[in-house]
This record gives sequence, C-alpha cells and structure tokens, in this order.
Amino acid sequence: MIPRLRPPFSLSSLLRAALPADDAVEERFERAFAEAFGFSHGLFFPYGRSALYALLKGLGWADREVLCPAYTCSVVPHAIVLSGNRIRFADSGINHFNVSPDALATALRPETAMVVLTPLFGYPLDRAACHAAIAARAPGAFVLYDLAQGFGAQDADGLQAAGADAALFSFGIGKMMSTFYGGMLLLKDKTVHEAVRDYRNRHFAPALPQGAGLLLYGLATWLAFREPALTVVDRLEHGTSLLDRFTKYYYATDRPRLPEDALVRPTRLQSRLGLRELAHYQARVEARRAIARHYEERLGCEGVAVFGHSATPTYSVFPLAVADPHSARRALAARGIQVGTLIDYACPDLPGYELHAGTGPRARVWGRSMINLPNWPGMSRPAADRTVDALLHWRDEAARR
Ligand SMILES: *Cc1c(COP(=O)(O)O)cnc(C)c1O
Repeated sequence: MIPRLRPPFSLSSLLRAALPADDAVEERFERAFAEAFGFSHGLFFPYGRSALYALLKGLGWADREVLCPAYTCSVVPHAIVLSGNRIRFADSGINHFNVSPDALATALRPETAMVVLTPLFGYPLDRAACHAAIAARAPGAFVLYDLAQGFGAQDADGLQAAGADAALFSFGIGKMMSTFYGGMLLLKDKTVHEAVRDYRNRHFAPALPQGAGLLLYGLATWLAFREPALTVVDRLEHGTSLLDRFTKYYYATDRPRLPEDALVRPTRLQSRLGLRELAHYQARVEARRAIARHYEERLGCEGVAVFGHSATPTYSVFPLAVADPHSARRALAARGIQVGTLIDYACPDLPGYELHAGTGPRARVWGRSMINLPNWPGMSRPAADRTVDALLHWRDEAARR
C-alpha cells in the first residue's frame, strides 16, 4: 500500500536524538527555528495548541475576542475558549478552503483583539487584502499566523508571516516536521516573548524523564507507516475504533478539551529531534513541491479541478475537493493507495460551539469534500502516477453509475 504520509523524521534522526543532551538543547532549537522562519524569538511547547493557549494566558487576556477560520483544526478554537477568551469564526472562500479577505472583513469587529490567519496546507492567503481588512476594521489587533499546516507559506513578497506579531507551528505526526508531538511559537516582540516564556515556565510541568518510552513510541510510529503494519493499521483505523485514541481523540472533535499532557514540557529528545529535522526541512519541501507539481499537471490535463495558488504552496498535504471523500478513500484503498480525509468538519458545527452554529457555511462544504493525496518526500513518480490513475478510475466509475 502507498501510505498517505510517512512519519516526517528519519530513523537515524530518531536514534541520534535519543543520545543524551544538555539542558541548553531546547533553547538552541528555539533559536534555530526562529531564525529559519524569520522571527526573533521562539518557544517550544508540547503541542501547537499549548502554544496558543500559553500565548493568550501570557498576554494576560480574558474574555477578549479572537477570530479564527471556521475551516481549521478543532484544537485551535479549543485552545482559545479554554484560555478564557471568546471565539469568532471567519468563513472560507467559495472557490478556496482558505479564509477569503471578504469573509475576514465580514467577521472582523472593532473588539476583535487577535486574528488567526491560516495559510492552510501552505497555500498562501491574499496577505495584502487580509491585512488591509484588519487595519480598516480592527486596527491594532494582534496578528498570529497559524502555520501548523503551512510552514514557510510564502507569496511574491516572501514569507507570509514576516512582520506578523507571532506564528504558530505544530510538530505532530503528519505535520511537515515532527517531534512526535510538539509546537513552536515564534514571536516578534521581546516583552511578549518574556511574558509567554514566564507563563510557560511557571505553569507547565517539567518534562518527564524520557527513558526509553519516547524512543519506543517513535520506533512504533515509524514502523506503523510501513508495510506490513501499514495495511493492518489502515484496516484498524477505518474498520474498528481501536485506534480512535490516536486519531479522533488527538483532534478532540467531541468537545473543547486539551490533552492531559498539554501543559507538560517536551523532552530534550524532542528538541534534539527538532534540530535535526530542521536541517532537512527545505529539501523535504522541495520534494513535496515536485510531487504536487506532477499531480497538478496530470490532474489539470484530465479536467480535475485543483486548488489555485498565487505562489507555490509548501504542501503540508496535497488537498483535493471531491464529491464523496469516503467513497474516494475506499476506492483508492482497494487499489493500494491510502488517501487521507482531513478536517472533515467546520469548527462552528462542532459540539461546544452551538452559539456559532451556521457561521461557516462554506467551511462546512469544504469539510465534506476534502481528501489529500500522498505527497511525502521520497515518494516516487510511478507511485504518484498510480495514485492519479486510481483517482481517475474512481471518478470515471462514479460517473457511469
Ligand atoms: C495540527 C494543527 C494545529 C495544532 O497543532 P497540535 O500540535 O496538534 O496542537 C493547529 N492548526 C492547524 C491548522 C493544524 O493542522
């Protein structure tokens, strides 16, 4: 089976990261990561959501309004409401899953204190139009780029988050770079950096002694995305509820909640792994882009609509909107290709957000349409071609029925 993703760390990085490290490795990782993405300060967290939570707490905010996309990972609004602040959603575009400048302008209000801009899957936003809308309707709002699925998102003027107040990254399995789980908050302002760092250092529990547990977890993860485990894991995931703890539970779509270890500092092994993986980041993006370009060329020729972009995305995944994602997933699995169905909801429709129900009608449509084709670094061109062939076969079969 062609997996939909590979754990984005190599076995050699993992084994080397398990060697003893000194105390300063976390700060080295924070500095190197901040520098790589154009910020002055970095803070490493156990999850991306923990970083957002700590940012709001560290700023000392309560009951302020934070605007985030309706079509985003559920844990983003969770972190906002659990920090004691108020959520408001901005809808997607009609032709694109990203928030459109119009939808952003409609949702912005003078009391909007923070705007979360999310170039999802590394597809750039219309930055100038979004920033103009913020300047007109909520001047002075704190601008945070959620780059958990959009590391290095860029447009003609360079990195999209350059000049923003902060940027958020996730290192979960399936993100563009992984430390098993983990998140990074990059900050422009020294005072905010110090406030959030102090909050983290005071309120987060120290890292657990890493022992062999994390290494074993890493090895198991690495193996789970390879045959023979891959096919077994795929069947368990879609045929049983045995893996819900690792799949559905991780993304908490049942109610607003954070994981038990959301406020436990990551280990040195994770910092070391992050440092090593950062060194491979750019090459992996180029590999993803090469596969995506091939998909776009072939699918374009076959009349399959692919998402437009004003500058080359970084493609955390290769997204495609289809009429029936579950039928596509099953049909491709039968031909040995694992397809992901990611963010299959709109946040305003989730339990706990009843007050906001219906504020993301376009996001709801994207949530019912999106699949992602395998585009992990190292995937061969014949494997990409097999994926396209299987997709076209499914489309043509569906058209005949
Ligand atoms: C994964 C993700 C997050 C959160 O990251 P965690 O590390 O899982 O907390 C935030 N935003 C988006 C868009 C994501 O995909």
